Amino acid sequence: MNYYSLHHKSPKTTFKNAVINGIAQDRGLYFPENITPLSKDFIKNIENYSNYEIAFEAIKQFVGDEIPENKLKEIIAETVSFDFPVVPINKNIGTLELFHGPTMAFKDVGAKFMAKCLEFFNKDNDDEVTVLVATSGDTGGAVANGFLGAKGVKVVILYPSGKVSDIQEKQLTTLGQNITALEVDGVFDDCQEMVKTAFLDKEITKTLTSANSINVARWLPQMFYFFFAYKQLKKHQKEIVFSVPSGNFGNICAGIMAQKLGLTIKHFIAATNVNDTVPNYMLNGIYSPKPSKATISNAMDVGNPSNFIRIQELFNNDITLLKNNFSSFSFTDEKTKETMQNIYKKSEYISDPHGAVGYLGLEKYGLKENEYGVFLETAHPVKFLDIVEETLPVKVEIPPQIQKVIHKEKVAIKASTYEDLKAFLMKN
Ligand SMILES: *Cc1c(COP(=O)(O)O)cnc(C)c1O
Repeated sequence: MNYYSLHHKSPKTTFKNAVINGIAQDRGLYFPENITPLSKDFIKNIENYSNYEIAFEAIKQFVGDEIPENKLKEIIAETVSFDFPVVPINKNIGTLELFHGPTMAFKDVGAKFMAKCLEFFNKDNDDEVTVLVATSGDTGGAVANGFLGAKGVKVVILYPSGKVSDIQEKQLTTLGQNITALEVDGVFDDCQEMVKTAFLDKEITKTLTSANSINVARWLPQMFYFFFAYKQLKKHQKEIVFSVPSGNFGNICAGIMAQKLGLTIKHFIAATNVNDTVPNYMLNGIYSPKPSKATISNAMDVGNPSNFIRIQELFNNDITLLKNNFSSFSFTDEKTKETMQNIYKKSEYISDPHGAVGYLGLEKYGLKENEYGVFLETAHPVKFLDIVEETLPVKVEIPPQIQKVIHKEKVAIKASTYEDLKAFLMKN
């Protein structure tokens, strides 16, 4: 499968190069040249297939013959080796829990898939690839775990000192092997700036790549969730509406890809916190990115969502077409907390702030009699323990995945300037 750049200046490239480069030379995101719907029979009988088989069917055209079928099946087996249940909240709403993976955030799937693809593509290459990633919390843990032990791949994670939760810090700093954590004296934007500078620095001669959600190998496997939900919900014989808590809009964009592949999905809602660039665009047709604002759903604090351009491409850059399929609404922290309380009162369900924003999206949309709404729970409540326990009258139990890292010792290298990062990269 070939991919083109959404800036249309760089030449088309293979899946392999799209994965290794992350972004095209002209700074455009890669987009698949063709999207061929799956057979109607397959979708009609989807409940007869395992999650592994479904994931393979969904992704194989996007990989093409660049990874042999058996190898791709092996990669998928490692990627979706846990549950993706739709848990009923009330008569016409359920939540798709995406947090049963190793770091309890939905990014586990994309991170593992990308790590395994990169490992495969780099297997005959003597040079190591260094994955450089800045994190505000969730991405780092998923990437560290996904890439742990990948041969020929080193991972360097930059995180802002004191700005990630204790659990998130443990997830980043306790793995060892090919994973190194750099603890940056600064905020997330400083980490990101250091990463960007390194990519442009000609004196760094080793192969650097990034593992953020613009990479096609992190973006595309997120389609699987929507297939897995569809498989569970088909029996209701209602029209499905998905509400996706959105930051960089990669997850929801993958959902729209799943619709393109043939799933009958009535509508998509991108629910955001007060970082409302896309909700505003849907209202007035003007796309005006802004600096991000800090909220309690901090994994969605994005002022210029990188994947929105892919969503526009999926609807031929036609806003009318887009509006028929897609809505976007923004909600405050106050409303989010109130909703966490309401969901708990009515259904005894503990949602994290991101999931609650998703629920609000469904409420605002207003489900009709023949519709079933699904909001995505993108992280386990334990990952936002402080907010959850101060908002709800509950004590969140620490799941085994988290127990495992909590008592391990943190190992991180202090860095305060770009020169520190550079020195580290030149030496290691
Ligand atoms: C990354 C993340 C999101 C946002 O996903 P996008 O694909 O960037 O829109 C939402 N919730 C959680 C918990 C996340 O970690």
